[in-house]
Amino acid sequence: MKLIDSHCHVHFQAYKDDMDEVVKRSLDAGVGMITVGTQSSTSKTAIELAEKYENVWATIGLHPNHLHKQEFFDEDELPPEEKATGKIKTRAEAFDPEYYRTLIDHPKVVAIGEFGLDYYRVPDHLDRDQVIADQEASCAQQLSFASEFDKPVVIHCRDAHEAQYELLKAEIEKGGLTKRGVIHSFTGSVEDARRYEELGFILGLNGILTFSKELQAVVKDIPLEQIVVETDAPYLTPPPYRGKRNEPAYVKFIAKLIAELHHVSFDEVADLTTNTTKTLFSI
Ligand SMILES: [Zn+2]
Repeated sequence: MKLIDSHCHVHFQAYKDDMDEVVKRSLDAGVGMITVGTQSSTSKTAIELAEKYENVWATIGLHPNHLHKQEFFDEDELPPEEKATGKIKTRAEAFDPEYYRTLIDHPKVVAIGEFGLDYYRVPDHLDRDQVIADQEASCAQQLSFASEFDKPVVIHCRDAHEAQYELLKAEIEKGGLTKRGVIHSFTGSVEDARRYEELGFILGLNGILTFSKELQAVVKDIPLEQIVVETDAPYLTPPPYRGKRNEPAYVKFIAKLIAELHHVSFDEVADLTTNTTKTLFSI
């Protein structure tokens, strides 16, 4: 494996017609992948896909955007049998430790996530304070679940780094999260990056880096040892494929840009990020 896409959703509905081709195309290009669950159904299907391939792993968890009914619901995510006919399905879910316990022992499950705080996507029709309280409770619940099973965590954090940092710190101070984890799709400041570094957290960078000059400036100041690469496929496609569906093989464009920003070779970024990903997820 030359590279590992540390965060994709290659088991989502967006790949229903060619999932195996997409996975094989990436593996043939030397790109392994961690396919990330976002709710009960997609946590299970992530494992089902990972079972089929060497160098494909899965995570299980409940994304904050699935805690409440929402309008932006993503058609590309769920299996067809879960789609309501004629209208958009906006089911809300709570984290159910009993359910996730049935998945956790699978050898291909390498982390808990993605979960965390998303203050950006708070549905307009709901009480903001309540939504945030619910997100924090679900996050704390999944942090202690990860501690209990000694797994690293995959954190989704949008516009909430202060609160997210405090939740992680509190769990670590309790003696939990010994495997730490990754702040996926990191878009914070240099200061945010330093604080996460103090906690022993890794930062995941994806196609946003190719669009955001601001993030590029931040990344120049982040040590390469703290970085892993990801696509978040099917979303956030980098150039030259921007506007099309993303896939794990395109993670090379992220590694290439990081190499340019740090004035090092592509191989150095590939080696370092692959090693960091392997260590973090014990793969
Ligand atoms: Zn994701």
